[in-house]
Formats: sequence, structure tokens, C-alpha cells
Amino acid sequence: MSKIIRVAIDGPSGAGKSTIAKAVGKKLGLDYIDTGAMYRAVGYKTLTTSIDPDDAAAMQQMLDSTEIDFSKGDIILDGEIVNDKIRTNEMSMMASRVSAIPAVREKLVELQRKMGQTKSIIMDGRDIGTNVLTDAEFKFFMTASAEERADRRYKELIEKGQDVSYETVLDDIIKRDHNDMTRKLNPLKKADDAIELDTTGMSIEEVTDFIFKEVTK
Ligand code: C5P
Repeated sequence: MSKIIRVAIDGPSGAGKSTIAKAVGKKLGLDYIDTGAMYRAVGYKTLTTSIDPDDAAAMQQMLDSTEIDFSKGDIILDGEIVNDKIRTNEMSMMASRVSAIPAVREKLVELQRKMGQTKSIIMDGRDIGTNVLTDAEFKFFMTASAEERADRRYKELIEKGQDVSYETVLDDIIKRDHNDMTRKLNPLKKADDAIELDTTGMSIEEVTDFIFKEVTK
């Protein structure tokens, strides 16, 4: 059997991690795992079942009866494809909120580690290089200015027909950066052995090429 390769891509919201991870995964034949989607799915379930995120017992009970998986690029929450439902600004904020809850991280990190055990993967998130796959063969930390990240996210949401303003998206990105970098548990942080890449002003092709070359050299 050929060797398993794991590529970790971390960075703040809107740095383009998922677009790049998908493209590199396709080029290299690696399964793409979007860990942000998993936190979004938990946020979505918390909101739609009206659970108070501060109620630890209710959260634990909900997590115990929650199944999250990927199939052919779709994220499946308790048997339902929730790709579009989790991609709103409201769900971004909800994901950031529930991602600070220890029981949520415990469950999702365990699932993520299992996914990286049996097959070659490219996984993106906030704590992949520092916590989930500390021994990943390749680690990257992608950044870009908050304005450029907000601009990318804003265009993406508008393309999907959502009614948001650029200012709201920028505000939310700054808030999420703060939440993600200052939470006690596995905050967003570059792993010491990760390659840092500032993608401000770079095209998707340029970033994809950079990572592809690093992994195949
Ligand atoms: O990457 P995405 O923007 O979809 O992630 C949504 C939220 O999920 C992030 O703002 C962050 O709070 C949380 N997250 C996390 N750890 C990960 C991936 C995402 O805490 N590995």
C-alpha cells in the first residue's frame, strides 16, 4: 500500500483555505476535509433545535446524538445534506461560538483524527497543524489582509444571492478572528513547522501551484 499523506492548511476566515485545499486535493488525488463545515453543522443544529450553547448538558446530549460525515464533497448532518444551509453569515458566527465549547471540539477533533488515519487527505481549519494532525507530512498557514478576506467572502455571499453588506462581512471577520485567536482551547495559531503564505494579491492558481510544488518536490 502506498504511504498515507496528510496535508494541513490553517488560517483565518476567508484566507481562501477551502478553495485552495479543494484544488490541491483534486490535483493530488487527496480527499478534502473541511473542518469548518463540521463546526458550522454543529452550529446549525444548535440553532435549529433551539439549544442554548451555554447549557453544557443540553449541548452534550445533542452531540451524543449527532452524526457528521462527508460524502462526495457533501457535508451530511444526521443523514441530511446541509451544504448551503451552513454557508450563511449567521452560521459563520454560530460556528465560531460553538467552536469554543470543549465538548464540541472534543467530538469533532476525534472524528477528524479518524478521517486522517486510513487515507491520504488534505484538511483545512484553524487547529489542524497544531492539534488535530500534529504529525501531518505537510503544514501550511495561509493568511491575507482582513479587507481582502472580507472582499472575497462578500463576493461569495452576494453570488449566492444573500443580502449582506461589505461592512457587516468585514466586521464579522474581525470578530471571528478575535474569537478564534483568543479562545482558550486550540486557538488559531501557526504551527512552528508550518510554511506561512500571505495570499494578499495572489490568484487562486498561484496559491494552488505554490502548495502543489511544496508537496511534490
Ligand atoms: O472555516 P470556516 O469559516 O468555515 O469555519 C467556521 C468557524 O469554525 C471558524 O470561525 C472557527 O470558529 C471554527 N473552526 C474551528 N476549528 C477548525 C475549523 C473551524 O474552530 N478546525
